[in-house]
Amino acid sequence: MAPTSPVRVRFAPSPTGHLHVGNVRTALFNWLFARQNGGVMVLRIEDTDVERSEARFEAMLMDDLKWLGLDWDEGPDKGGAYGPYRQSDRLEIYREHAERLLNEGKAYLCFCTEEELQKERDSASAEKGQAIYSGKCRRLDPQEAKSRRTNGETCAIRLKIPERPIRFHDIVRGDVEFSNEVVSDPVIVRSSGMPVYNYVVVIDDALMKITHVIRGDDHLSNTPKQVALYEALGWPVPEFAHLSTILGADRERLSKRHGATSIANFREMGVLPEALMNYLALLGWAPTGGTREIFTPTELIKEFSLKRVTPSPAVFDMEKLYWLNRHYIKESPPERVEKLALQYYSRAIAEDITKDLAGDVSSRDKTSASDYPWPPAVRDWFASVTRLLSPYVDRLEQLPERAMPILDYDAKAAIESPDNAEALAWPQTDAVLARFTVKILEDEQAREGKLTPDQFNKIVSEVKAETGVKGKELFHPIRIVIMGSHSGPAFDKLVPILEEGSHLSLPKHVLNVRERVEAFGKARAQS
Ligand code: GLU
Repeated sequence: MAPTSPVRVRFAPSPTGHLHVGNVRTALFNWLFARQNGGVMVLRIEDTDVERSEARFEAMLMDDLKWLGLDWDEGPDKGGAYGPYRQSDRLEIYREHAERLLNEGKAYLCFCTEEELQKERDSASAEKGQAIYSGKCRRLDPQEAKSRRTNGETCAIRLKIPERPIRFHDIVRGDVEFSNEVVSDPVIVRSSGMPVYNYVVVIDDALMKITHVIRGDDHLSNTPKQVALYEALGWPVPEFAHLSTILGADRERLSKRHGATSIANFREMGVLPEALMNYLALLGWAPTGGTREIFTPTELIKEFSLKRVTPSPAVFDMEKLYWLNRHYIKESPPERVEKLALQYYSRAIAEDITKDLAGDVSSRDKTSASDYPWPPAVRDWFASVTRLLSPYVDRLEQLPERAMPILDYDAKAAIESPDNAEALAWPQTDAVLARFTVKILEDEQAREGKLTPDQFNKIVSEVKAETGVKGKELFHPIRIVIMGSHSGPAFDKLVPILEEGSHLSLPKHVLNVRERVEAFGKARAQS
């Protein structure tokens, strides 16, 4: 038996903007398939749309892929045996094969002008409901056509579509058939000399020895043209797998309208790459027999199966992504999360500084966020804030907001908050707060901003003993005084953070326990 050829797949983005969820899911499925088969992953840049392609988008998409944890074995940055890997560097190859098709009578020159074609399209769609080319120039004498071209007449090159249905097998969809009439003779090289996508993609996939074309189903209707091209070129047709469309919660095609859709967006929000990878893998694929949802990259490589990819559209569920992200934040080594979190605090701090200095929120300069200097003591302190709060967030961008009661305590807001109204009105609250206040104000450790959790607990126990109040009647009012809200992290962890923070030099002074008690007392007296 002949050895089966090694798996070679490709991800072929056009560098015309940010990578979005759909593209990246395609990249991921290719990558998983390559890695589980010990195959080769090729990155090919499809930049024949010169007006929309930009080098910076190419750099950004590579960066996004690497961030997600995807790598490739051949590509514009890596080289490889079948390069170049940027279509704009392959124009000569495309020209050569187009001439070959012409010489072999498998393609022909088309001199129809844009106006003629438009007229034809209009009447064809009126007659048949479809705008297809009549094949007028197919009937020209090839020699005559050639001399017209030599004499400088502009012309496109069209492929002759055979007069029979075009069939191919799709791993996701099964056998697919298109009538040749629907396909009509496609232009492969425009009159401008620029080759078109359907043509170059075939040349590249064939010459790069791609065995499996895995891509979005928006390309399903292009596939018969491509299959006809393989056949005309005398090359083997690869396997196809067309992945279903991704929809938003409203079941419309996922687009910017739905909010965050680019990898850059998710990265900025503080979604961890392994969470996004895990989530994207579940968009159109499900593991055998199971409801299991959490997969590390290594597990995905093992479990993934193209045969289990579903043809029905996948709905993007942001809440599920956040749920997975919460899981991965918890699983991550704390140092990693602490380091990643810094950028979010620094942005908030920079915004705050700008706001305070300029008094004008609209002039916030986000780029200055990374300029915040991180003295080691401040960095360590923020790390402990992150350790305290990360179990309560599902994306890292939420950390500064969660940290606001620590960074920017507001006694007046705590007193006025409707959430606190009930606890502050309990009959025992005044007694609890009076005893608690006296004890904190008298405490030596608290005076120096060095209250320990033990000492704090001792004070709370004394308040309990002296007032006879316990449970939430005791804890909710105290928590409101300390954090401005009756829920939140345990005092044991919180107290040292407040005490330490008050000794650091930060753009805004962090109030320690005693300062909070004082500020709350003052604000309550005034309310
Ligand atoms: N450049 C095409 C796209 O981004 C790739 C199509 C393909 O994979 O064949 O849609």
